[in-house]
Amino acid sequence: MVVDTVDIKVGYSCNNDCFHCVIADKRRELLLKTGVADRTKEEIMQHIDEAGRDDAKSIVLTGGEITIRRDFFDILEYALSKVETVVIQTNGRMFYYEEFAKKMASYERANVTIAIHSCKPNVHDWITGSKGSFKQTTQGIKNLIKFGMKRRVGGKLVISKKNMNHLMNTVELCKELGIASLNIAFPHAMGNARLNFDDCVPRYIDIKDEILRTIKKSIDLSLHLDLEAIPLCFLPNYETFASELRLSEHTVLKDLTHTDRNYTKVRQTIAKRKGVQCKECKYFLICEGVWDDYEKGYDISELTPIPQDKPGEYLRDLRLLPSFKIHPVPLIERNIINTTISNKRINH
Ligand code: SF4
Repeated sequence: MVVDTVDIKVGYSCNNDCFHCVIADKRRELLLKTGVADRTKEEIMQHIDEAGRDDAKSIVLTGGEITIRRDFFDILEYALSKVETVVIQTNGRMFYYEEFAKKMASYERANVTIAIHSCKPNVHDWITGSKGSFKQTTQGIKNLIKFGMKRRVGGKLVISKKNMNHLMNTVELCKELGIASLNIAFPHAMGNARLNFDDCVPRYIDIKDEILRTIKKSIDLSLHLDLEAIPLCFLPNYETFASELRLSEHTVLKDLTHTDRNYTKVRQTIAKRKGVQCKECKYFLICEGVWDDYEKGYDISELTPIPQDKPGEYLRDLRLLPSFKIHPVPLIERNIINTTISNKRINH
């Protein structure tokens, strides 16, 4: 089996408490059951060994928050000894400390993806549940770049009702900070996002205009942007900004409780939904639709099929998408997307 990327969750402990956090319920459950919410260093090393044996190209280390572990750099070095590239997903707060940031920057095959949820300090701090986190995260980004990580710092923003009206300004901030690329993700209503669904998860229809403004701004600023879990009908003329079109088909996900050997398949067949009307859409085979939890909270009649050139004719060649030239996606052989079709009745 081909493996490109292995995504290893090292544990659930974190120094933030985000109100959209998808693992918060798993952390509470594990702490109640076992009193421990993190893998041991030995367990993590075993998973890294396995990634090496599978000939993976990259390892993503994520949590929780990996940088607060005492063995963080040991784990990073071990991962780098087994694969070409390691990506650290982090809230970036530890890089506020210069020596820590300097050491991180010295690993030339390591990249970091840092969560930044708003250009407004009070909003970012409210979302993370940690006063002062905006200051530490933004200074952390500046420190990494100062110490030489310029092209190796990416950003990650989770959309919510708290930040959805200033996404464009947050893209501007990311550019100012020197971030090379930004992933903007629609919230997956698990963990805290499920508990806070009404305050957290917006409707696609309510964020569409801001998303389009934000994409245009990213083009003006030459900041690489991609958007996660946004159906293609909400990205008119910018379809190739959908991150799912550039994700590897060969990703292994190692959560604390289970392993998904083919995360793409799990995402498409279990975690995503399309409406019955999607069968009439030109993009039916290349679009993943919405998270299943979204469909539980809202009716999905807002998904609007893109007219087919001929009845039953689906677009398969990504080069035919309007934005391919300005924002290309890798042309790899793709499985037909097999997202579950909702049986719920659609009220037009
Ligand atoms: S398949 Fe459905 S969700 Fe995707 S673009 Fe078409 S109508 Fe929208």
